[in-house]
Amino acid sequence: MTASRATGHRVFFGSFPALEPRLFEEIAGLQRDDPLRPVAIVVASNLLGVHLRRRYVEWREDRGLSPAHGGLSFATLEGFAAQVAGPGGPPLPPFGEFALISSALARLPESRVFGDLAGRPELVPSIEATLRDLADAGVAPKAFRAFVRKGALSAERRLLLGALARLYEELDRGTAVRETRAATFRRAAASRDAASEPLLLYGFYDATGLQKDFLAASARRRPVAAFVPRPPGRYGEFADPFLRWAEERLPAAPEGVAAPEGSLDDFARRLGGDAAAPLSGDFVRLVSAAGSAGERAEIAREILMAAEAGIPLHAIGVVVRESSPWSGALSRELARAGIPNFELSAESAASSALGRAVRIWWDLEERDFPREDVLDLFDLFRGAGAVDSPESARDLARRAGIVRGAADWTERLRRLAEAPRSETEGRAARSFAAECDRLVASAREWPRAPLEWTAWSAEIGRRLEALFSPRAVPAPLVSAAEAVGALGPLGGAVERGSAAHVFFGALEEQRQASGRLGVDGVFVGSAMAARGLTFAMTIVAHLVEREFPAPGRPDPLLFDAERRALAAETDRPVPLKVESRGAEERALFAIAAGSARDLLVLTASRRDEALTRDCLPSPFFADAERAASAGARIPTRVVEMGVPVTFGPSVSEAEAYGRALARSGAATVASVFAPLARALARQDLAHAPVWTAFEGRLGPAAREALARHRPSALDSLSASRVARFATCPYRYFLRNVQGMREWDEADRAAELDPLSLGNTFHDAARRLVAASRDWPPSPAGIGALAARVSEEALARHEEKNAPVVPALVRELARDRVEALVRAWLAFEADRGDALRPAAAEHPLGAGGEPFVLDAGAFPVRFQGSIDRVDEDRDGRPARVVDYKVKMAPGFAKEFRGGGRIVGGEAVQLPVYALAVGGEVASEYLVLHGGSAGPAVESVFFSPEETEEAIAALRSFLAGMEAAVASGTFVPRTAARLRKDPCGVCECADVCGPGHKVRFAAKDDDADPAVRALLALRRLP
Ligand code: SF4
Repeated sequence: MTASRATGHRVFFGSFPALEPRLFEEIAGLQRDDPLRPVAIVVASNLLGVHLRRRYVEWREDRGLSPAHGGLSFATLEGFAAQVAGPGGPPLPPFGEFALISSALARLPESRVFGDLAGRPELVPSIEATLRDLADAGVAPKAFRAFVRKGALSAERRLLLGALARLYEELDRGTAVRETRAATFRRAAASRDAASEPLLLYGFYDATGLQKDFLAASARRRPVAAFVPRPPGRYGEFADPFLRWAEERLPAAPEGVAAPEGSLDDFARRLGGDAAAPLSGDFVRLVSAAGSAGERAEIAREILMAAEAGIPLHAIGVVVRESSPWSGALSRELARAGIPNFELSAESAASSALGRAVRIWWDLEERDFPREDVLDLFDLFRGAGAVDSPESARDLARRAGIVRGAADWTERLRRLAEAPRSETEGRAARSFAAECDRLVASAREWPRAPLEWTAWSAEIGRRLEALFSPRAVPAPLVSAAEAVGALGPLGGAVERGSAAHVFFGALEEQRQASGRLGVDGVFVGSAMAARGLTFAMTIVAHLVEREFPAPGRPDPLLFDAERRALAAETDRPVPLKVESRGAEERALFAIAAGSARDLLVLTASRRDEALTRDCLPSPFFADAERAASAGARIPTRVVEMGVPVTFGPSVSEAEAYGRALARSGAATVASVFAPLARALARQDLAHAPVWTAFEGRLGPAAREALARHRPSALDSLSASRVARFATCPYRYFLRNVQGMREWDEADRAAELDPLSLGNTFHDAARRLVAASRDWPPSPAGIGALAARVSEEALARHEEKNAPVVPALVRELARDRVEALVRAWLAFEADRGDALRPAAAEHPLGAGGEPFVLDAGAFPVRFQGSIDRVDEDRDGRPARVVDYKVKMAPGFAKEFRGGGRIVGGEAVQLPVYALAVGGEVASEYLVLHGGSAGPAVESVFFSPEETEEAIAALRSFLAGMEAAVASGTFVPRTAARLRKDPCGVCECADVCGPGHKVRFAAKDDDADPAVRALLALRRLP
């Protein structure tokens, strides 16, 4: 035992709710005669200091003492050591260790032992953490070197630890003249400061070697009273080594401090293994939610219940193991539920919209400027108010056909700006092109070679200025770039990855507290941040496997067995990484649970919706459930998936409506809530046996508006639009009357979809007809011709849409087109008739005007082009041809037995025939591009049969005109040519799940307009 000059040391241990009043008694006792007597209190965190100040005032008021007091100074252990040590050398800048290790790794031959990892900045933080453990434990580089030399290590481990020892020596040398945390503690321990005032040490249950040296030195000079959190039983074992150390080195016999009367203390004893501890009251509640989102709702419910019971919101804490996206979502959802709260970790500058945008910017060149990245970046910048990119940026990028690559962003946008659809688009395109030019210039051609830190700082600064010009670079980014430059005096040249580590690390460290403890509502924070705080009500949340307890992570550089051997060899407390993990996690949990003064709630969820996996409850949750259960009474509220929660207050509008519905019935709620009344009416109509306005049977009120949609009133119609009406009139209504558009996002195409394959073939066929002097082309030239037109057509398709990538997929796509072209030419050669193409993609009307089709009682204007017009030897039109590229067989079958327009689903040929003057044959040339391989089938109609098709078309157009005029667009879920139109329908979400069954129940609707529409389906 070390001799101590100062005496009167004391060590108290217990839960925080027990230690807190004991500390206050100690302070009050010290200031009994002099209320301004200075009292130094060393606390585990600054937040704890804030908490204790506030609680001390409350404690005094509760005892009828004046809240006014003075002389208390709260400091962290490091801050207190700095006071004792006095001024030291120049401080090591933030990330100084990272810089020194990075440059040593690049320089030293020993680094080879790390293989490829040596050149990666990701290795450095691991080395940094291991060396920090050694330094904090007080293991000198020399002692570590000796251990490596003499210890029982394999040759491989000796080599690796030898390299680590070398890096440690370099780090020690690099920091020799600078003030580091270890240097501060060493100087403080050696200080001759002889203050005799007692030192109160609050909230520590562990300390590093250097911290213990300093505390022991302080105890030699002044009385120390330590308040050590030590939960009862096995949940508090982690604190025992520290208590033993205090007992021996202060020295002082630890005294247990009992919590104030209450069942939570009994619960803590039962949790620790004392089954004999009594259990009464309703002080502990457990909630098992079906999912992690539901768990957040249950937390909101528990808080609202507590608030209703009179617990102020600022006296409620929600403790999670670590701040995470889950806790961030919790904080936001509490705010949405109207519960003021603040998350302690607060948002860092790195996770702000600006920070995330700059992270994307940093990687743009490596990722080849992909469209979504650039657009996300502009969205984030716009959200942060950092740049002025137009709202229509996404639209412009799509219109310009940008997929990726710096050139896409500069050239394609410029081309769009030069040929816009409107002046508005032109202005937006010019402004966006200017933004993109700046972005590309700032983000490309980063230096590849290592640079000094100051050069990286200047490089980043210059690029940021280019990016934000003419605006000023936002302050957080300027300060992060300066942090990189501040490492310059430490020397060394590093790669861009290391500069990124420091730049984004510096952004990460820029945080602003989003609220004040005890003032701004519910506290949400990690178990470490909450250490020492006490709340009237504590919720320990997200108690699920791999969250709390957090799994131990072994140190890949210095194993636990080696750490133990090193500790034995040097007599320094080198911390273990995995072996002590379980005990430390238990202590963290028990301390978090023990922070509740009046009410403790523990929550868990059984499924993680984000990861779509089931979760097991944490063993702590199971232990707590056992400890809080008395016989058959288990205090766990289990929330089942999909079952409305009837317990406690509603936590969302939807839940409130749900409850009102259950309580009062739908009719009552609808009488005061118009949207529900509309929804109920809609539901009744959806299940009525007649077609309604919700399924395309519009009432008389719509007729006037529909007049301009009648075929005869349209500026132009196309054969495919007629076919759309025939296949499903409701889809036609949604697309062509309501103007609904499918989401159209051009992106890298992985392969040609059926529509693109068809379009590309049509283009190739047009090119081939135009290029062929002979018909059919001579067999000798077919190969080269087919290859050329296929390549040209594919290139044109890519230009209009998006590149087909990667190269192999593009090659396969071109082969598919070429195979169709070859199959088609082989068919043409085989049939050997006397006709030859006179035109391909021939416009229906002359001089750019629509072709006016006489539909009997009215004219209909058609736009479009004829795939092919064949002429006879005398140069007269003899046959019109329409190419159909199909993936599945079945098209031709529908024309057998007299099919002409198949209920309006195939009207191209009669329209073409009329456009060329009638009295011609017609033909669908069906090219099968599916897995059965390229094959060609002809569906041929003689001139007489084509006349029959024309008559059927006129009947169809008359029916269509009447249907549109009467507002009859009822849906069709199975057509003759397209068996399952709903399977490929972009409007399927409107019809909704189960629509086929609902629609089938309406098929017997006797409405004459509906019957007339249905009759069109039977046209030949
Ligand atoms: S989902 Fe089916 S019924 Fe509905 S609009 Fe589309 S094709 Fe018609």
